[in-house]
Amino acid sequence: MYDLIIIGAGASGLISAIVASSSGEKVLLIEKMSQAGRKLRITGKGRCNLTNTLPLKEFLKHCGSEPRFLYPAFNLFFSKELINFFEQLGLKTVEERGGRIFPQSGKAQDVFLALINEIEDSSCQVLKDTQVTSLMIENNRIVGVKAQSRTKGNKEYLAKKVILAAGGESYPLTGSQGDGIRLAKAAGHNIIPTLPSLVGLKLKDYNQERIHPSIVGFGVRNVKATISLESGKKIAEEFGELTFRENGVEGPIIITLSRQIARLLSQGERLFLNIDFKTALSEQELDEKLLSELNIRGKEDLRSVLRAFLPHELIYLAIYQTALDPRKKASFVTSQERKEILAFLKHCQFEIIGDFGYEQAIVTQGGVDLKEINPKTLESKLIKGLHFAGEVMDLDADTGGFNLQIAFSTGYLAAQNAEKED
Ligand SMILES: Cc1cc2nc3c(=O)[nH]c(=O)nc-3n(C[C@H](O)[C@H](O)[C@H](O)COP(=O)(O)OP(=O)(O)OC[C@H]3O[C@@H](n4cnc5c(N)ncnc54)[C@H](O)[C@@H]3O)c2cc1C
Repeated sequence: MYDLIIIGAGASGLISAIVASSSGEKVLLIEKMSQAGRKLRITGKGRCNLTNTLPLKEFLKHCGSEPRFLYPAFNLFFSKELINFFEQLGLKTVEERGGRIFPQSGKAQDVFLALINEIEDSSCQVLKDTQVTSLMIENNRIVGVKAQSRTKGNKEYLAKKVILAAGGESYPLTGSQGDGIRLAKAAGHNIIPTLPSLVGLKLKDYNQERIHPSIVGFGVRNVKATISLESGKKIAEEFGELTFRENGVEGPIIITLSRQIARLLSQGERLFLNIDFKTALSEQELDEKLLSELNIRGKEDLRSVLRAFLPHELIYLAIYQTALDPRKKASFVTSQERKEILAFLKHCQFEIIGDFGYEQAIVTQGGVDLKEINPKTLESKLIKGLHFAGEVMDLDADTGGFNLQIAFSTGYLAAQNAEKED
């Protein structure tokens, strides 16, 4: 019989294991993959953006639809505590632009190693390659879990408390395949429908082969991307960098926007992406500049005029979108054609027809309904002794270190309560 069983050795489960075992609890950490923390090790493009130093009020603006739910977890263990916690484990951190915190070594692997070394030095027992298949519940109280492994077959593990820290559904190769959500549902919890979030967007009538293969992987900076409804109503806007991919676009501003439109997109709402490639110039200024270039370069072809405004990869896109003849001499470009070029530069529009799916989504939107979880303890309001931590809950945030802080803070809080209540 264990005091505590933790399902999932991801960011939230690992910290829960450290907190609970440091108080002498008998803890069992169960991980379905052959290695723990697979997702943690690839975070932040291998650099792991641990957290963000924004003050609480600003920080919460980047977190989910119910940020108040996070107050108790953040009051207990916020960015400062997280940085100190890792310092004590021997991991130094550095702050970068936008308050983003990274390990000084620049290696996500070191974040994982700091946690797992601490666990291996503790009394916590770790079972890898073992998948929890069901929660054992008697009279609305958790009594243990059933798990399956190649070496041990099907086994029951008894415990007074269980923390479900099995993650969401994104990046399934790391082990987060929705098991946690299925286990919570089987226990009677309501699930807010899950969706890929922080993910690239697929565009209609975007064909990289017909545009030009060199568009794939091409990134543009200082652009403004706006998402609007069919009625033209603007619903989200971001300024920064985006990258063209095989079937659509990704990059920092696109993934941020994807989070804001995930629900609408899943409801079948028609949504449009508008890109302003020339944010520094007003439409009128740009038109004047275009007119002047067309006059100066009267004997050159349209492609060479466009080169004064765009990198060559985007000229392929401009030609594809406007359907103008790139060989046309500048002096023959009509005012209607000039308007089309201007529209491309300031309002390049595509219909959004989907996203790149869980395989490429950084987080999962949706999950266990927060209404059924006590925010002060992260205990289920339905099943005594069952706690939640991390992305399995209906919690997701923007990029910038917010998601890992949520995982670490909730993992910390869930384990605290497990200690106190025992
Ligand atoms: C590519 C990528 C980069 C990211 N970069 C950042 C970043 O830099 N900063 C940031 O803040 N966030 C980042 N995130 C998001 C962040 O990694 C997640 O929000 C966070 O890892 C969630 O932690 P978790 O503990 O809830 O779940 P996870 O880390 O997903 O861990 C869940 C664990 O549970 C295990 N598990 C699942 N089912 C079972 C079962 N039935 N039995 C036993 N074990 C099970 C899984 O194998 C997994 O190890 C990134 C995500 C991705 C995909």
